[in-house]
Formats: sequence, C-alpha cells, structure tokens
Amino acid sequence: MKLPHIPPYKTKVVEPVYFKTKEERAAKIKEVNYNLFNLHSDWVVVDLMTDSGTGAMSEQQWAEIMLGDESYAGSESYFKLIRSVRDIMGFEFVAPTHQGRAAENILFSAVVKEGDVVPGNAHFDTTKGHIEFRKAKAVDCTIDEAFDTSIDHPFKGNIDLEKLEAVIKEYGKERIPFINITVTCNTVGGQPVSLANIREVSELANREGIPVYMDIARYAENAYFIKTREVGYSDKSIREIVTEMFQDVQVVWMSAKKDGLVNIGGFIALHDAALYEKLGQFTIIYEGFITYGGMSGRAMGALAEGLQEGVEFDYLNDRVQQVAYLGEKLKSYGIPIQDPVGGHALYIDAKRMLPNVPQSQFPAQLLGIEAYIEGGVRGVEIGTLLADKDPVTGEERFPEMELLRLAIPRRVYSLPHMDYVAATMANIKEKSANLTTGLKIIKQADILRHFTVQLEKI
Ligand SMILES: *Cc1c(COP(=O)(O)O)cnc(C)c1O
Repeated sequence: MKLPHIPPYKTKVVEPVYFKTKEERAAKIKEVNYNLFNLHSDWVVVDLMTDSGTGAMSEQQWAEIMLGDESYAGSESYFKLIRSVRDIMGFEFVAPTHQGRAAENILFSAVVKEGDVVPGNAHFDTTKGHIEFRKAKAVDCTIDEAFDTSIDHPFKGNIDLEKLEAVIKEYGKERIPFINITVTCNTVGGQPVSLANIREVSELANREGIPVYMDIARYAENAYFIKTREVGYSDKSIREIVTEMFQDVQVVWMSAKKDGLVNIGGFIALHDAALYEKLGQFTIIYEGFITYGGMSGRAMGALAEGLQEGVEFDYLNDRVQQVAYLGEKLKSYGIPIQDPVGGHALYIDAKRMLPNVPQSQFPAQLLGIEAYIEGGVRGVEIGTLLADKDPVTGEERFPEMELLRLAIPRRVYSLPHMDYVAATMANIKEKSANLTTGLKIIKQADILRHFTVQLEKI
C-alpha cells in the first residue's frame, strides 16, 4: 500500500480553540456591526483572515528566541540573519525592518520620486500605497489571463512583456526607477511567476538599463510552483530555483511574516554597497540602528532559522497540498472558487455563490458573515467594500470580482480543520437560494474603509 502523505512536523505546544453557539455568534457579529475585523479572536473557531504573521514557529525557532542577542549594535542574531539571507538568496547586504511595508518605506524613500512610474505585476496594496504616497505611479502589467477565473494557466502572476514595453515607451526609462516583480502575486490570488517570465523581464530590463526589484513575501511558494509546474525544473531543488529566480535581480524586499515563518519581521537585501549605505540613513530615521532595523534580536534569530525551514521541500509540499486539499473539497461541494488554487489562500466567488444578492449589497461580505455565524470561520472580503468609493467622484466602485478570501496560516491547522471549513461553506451553499438581501453601510471612512466600516442587515 502506498503510505499516505502526512505533515513533516508534530505538535509540542497547543493553543485552545473556543466554541460558541451559532446564536451567540449571530448576536456578536451584529453587536460589532457586521465587521469581521472587530471580532476578538477567541470568538473565532478557524481563523483564515490572513496568513501574515499567523504561522507556528518550530522548536528551533523558539530556541533562537532564547538565544536572542539584544545588543543595540552588532548583535549576533543580526549576523545569523545576514548569514541565512546570503546562504539562501545570495545578497551581500541586508537591512532588517519591522515588516514588509517598512522595507517599502525605506527602499522607496531612497529610489522613488514624484512623477516616477513603477511597472510590475499587480502590486500589493501597501506597495502601491507607498508608490502613490510619493506621487509616483504603479502600472499593472500582469497578463490578462490572471483576471479570468475560468482560464486555467499555471503562472497567472506573469508579466505581459508587451504591456511592459508599452509602459517603458510611453513614460521613458528615465522615469522608471525599477521594474517590480511580486512573487507569488498576492493581488491576483497568490499566483506564481515562471522562471521563463522572470528571465524575459530581466532581459528586457537589461537592454533598457532598468533594474529589476522583487517583492519576495512568498518567494519559496513561488519556487515550489516552478518546481512542480514549469518544464525542466522538477529535478532542481527549491534552493537552486531560488538562486535562479534572484540571478538578475538587484534588490529584494520581504515581509517575513509570510515565507519567513515568523510572526513579525522583514528586510531589504541587495548587492549594491552605495544603495545600502543610502538605505541606512532612512533605517536610522524610521526604524532603528542598521543592525536591527525594527526587529528585536530574538526576532532576527527566529527569522534566520525560519528562512532555512521555509525553503524545505517537505514543508512547502505539505503547505501547498493543504491549501489544494481545501480547494478540492470546496469544489466537490459545488462551491465556486478561483482556479487554479494559489499558494496561500482560497478565493470563493461570491457573485456565483450568492447570485440573488445584488453587488451593491456586498455579497462577499455577506458570505463572510454567514461563514462566521455558521461555523465561526473568519475570512476576509475582497470586493466592493475593499474597493472603496471613487476618491474623485465619490461614487461606489464595483470591482469585476466579488471574493471571500480564506487564507491558510502556516503549520497551524490540520486537515480536519479544512474539512470543517468546507462543511461550513457547503451548509451556506445549501441555503444560498434563500439569501436574497445583503448589507448596507451605516458608517465608513474615506479610504481603506473595510477595516472600520459599520454595517447593518437589509
Ligand atoms: C504582506 C505583503 C507586503 C507588506 O508586508 P507587511 O509585513 O504586511 O507590512 C508587501 N508585499 C506583499 C506581496 C505582501 O504579501
């Protein structure tokens, strides 16, 4: 008999899950104005709001917590982090930051100025925010296939070379400080970028004399998809693929809360000594001394170890298979999801799941509320609430896709939790024909309203 797949870890410390009744949850979510961000975590049974900073650390990482060297300057934990980044990624210089957006703040302070244009595959929202905050422009050059859930494409995070060339032609290379590749591409559903595409983008960038930077929050998951989906890479190790991914890249920055397997942390890594020196000035202003950025010694030690564990094939295989397992289970119950399933999350198509709820009544948020009441499952709305009103006209904006995202924390939940989540969604599907009215807003902020919005049922 073929032995079944099991996770490459076992449990040493456990964390309780608290159960409430459906009636209690229905009352609670009403009390917090139908905003899932307002729930205390002990009112949630399976928390799939995000995979950022929510993973479980290993015993070796906890050992690093005890070994943390909290010296203000020149901490041994900092040197452990540098050695780890050099070992896996090959960059000489490393600037620690407290998380990914702090890395963006420092890096873009040094290289992005008013009037600049940064082309790339669907920029992450904080990346775009930090570009626009400097009165520069982020131009999305992702391939069209990424925005059609019915098309099966192995690398929906790829950059369209023609779109990229058109941007360079339109704005001129003087206005483009770098080309931004995000791996995996979070914004289009954790979709990977192929090595062939990375190479083509780099060749074009080289010809034009524009540097390539990478936003590498989920670079290890991207390498896993290259190994398992791209022709010619099945025999290469994850480390070999990572080396090839970064071969022609000048600068990377990372939200270590994702593939770094830590609860907080980030960094910028690069080859260029002069740029590193420039970054140091901003690190000192915004984060702290250059040998810790915004991190404690123990957090840097845990990250040095987490980076090593994050590129282990068995770990990645287990993680991606768990996400895929939930995807298959949902599909078997007829739940409409975005296909193919990405590296870190499932996206349920609320327009198809709740066809009788008008988009103006926030069907994806309603689906999130129903999942919470039914099973205590917390996801997050990626739809009309998140899209905000048009800042110029004040009109409601209706995005093409109305999604409920279920993001899976790393090494936290087991397959029975996934079965539980799928059953929760199946129960909602069963009564979905009767769900005909959604929610209306009673209070909202001008921007990023989804965090604080207050809603009531229609
Ligand atoms: C999470 C993330 C960021 C921002 O990092 P934080 O640690 O949340 O500040 C930037 N880019 C990508 C692709 C991310 O996933």
